[in-house]
Amino acid sequence: MARYIDAVCRLCRREGMKLYLKGDRCFKESCSFETRKGKVPGQHGAAKTKKPTGYSLQLREKQKVKRIYGVLEKQFRLYFAKADSRKGVTGHNLLSFLESRLDNVVYRLGFAPSRTAARQMVMHGHVMVNSKRVDVPSFQVKPGVAVELGNKAKSNETVKANLEIAAGRGIPKWLSLDATTFKGQVLANPTREDITLEINEQLIVELYSK
Ligand code: SF4
Repeated sequence: MARYIDAVCRLCRREGMKLYLKGDRCFKESCSFETRKGKVPGQHGAAKTKKPTGYSLQLREKQKVKRIYGVLEKQFRLYFAKADSRKGVTGHNLLSFLESRLDNVVYRLGFAPSRTAARQMVMHGHVMVNSKRVDVPSFQVKPGVAVELGNKAKSNETVKANLEIAAGRGIPKWLSLDATTFKGQVLANPTREDITLEINEQLIVELYSK
């Protein structure tokens, strides 16, 4: 599957906010968004700071969310269509679907330092859902489901260190974690209030509703 392989810190500077794509480094002073604050990437970066139009704001918001969750355009459109056909507020449904991806849950539980690393863990078969190996990062978790690591990952020192770092940040209230057994539980579907990222999902709804 196609993936973005360029320097990801450029994406934060392009979107004008920290997207937390690099794990631990995002919380350190060396974060390139902090050290190169206000600098838009690219040869004509400065020219890109002209007044944004309504369309460009909608487009940027969509790109930002795609980049945060590491989802490509086609899949993102499918999420939107699913969110739109479901009862409730489309933008909230969209974020709930993205947040319920297995790779995001692995990241939120603190097993991996970033969603990219979490995706890799899932694809390499280190993650079990209800005691069965699942290697599909987009797998949608549901309330009541248990997410845990396989034995090999449980004995990995890096994973233990990730958990310790993540413990300091806390995990969302729709998840619970037993760090001693490396086992998480999905307690509820994530709601809009559970997603603390600075996202204006209504702009995405407007973009796709044209
Ligand atoms: Fe973004 Fe993290 Fe890079 Fe900072 S370190 S610019 S938050 S990806």
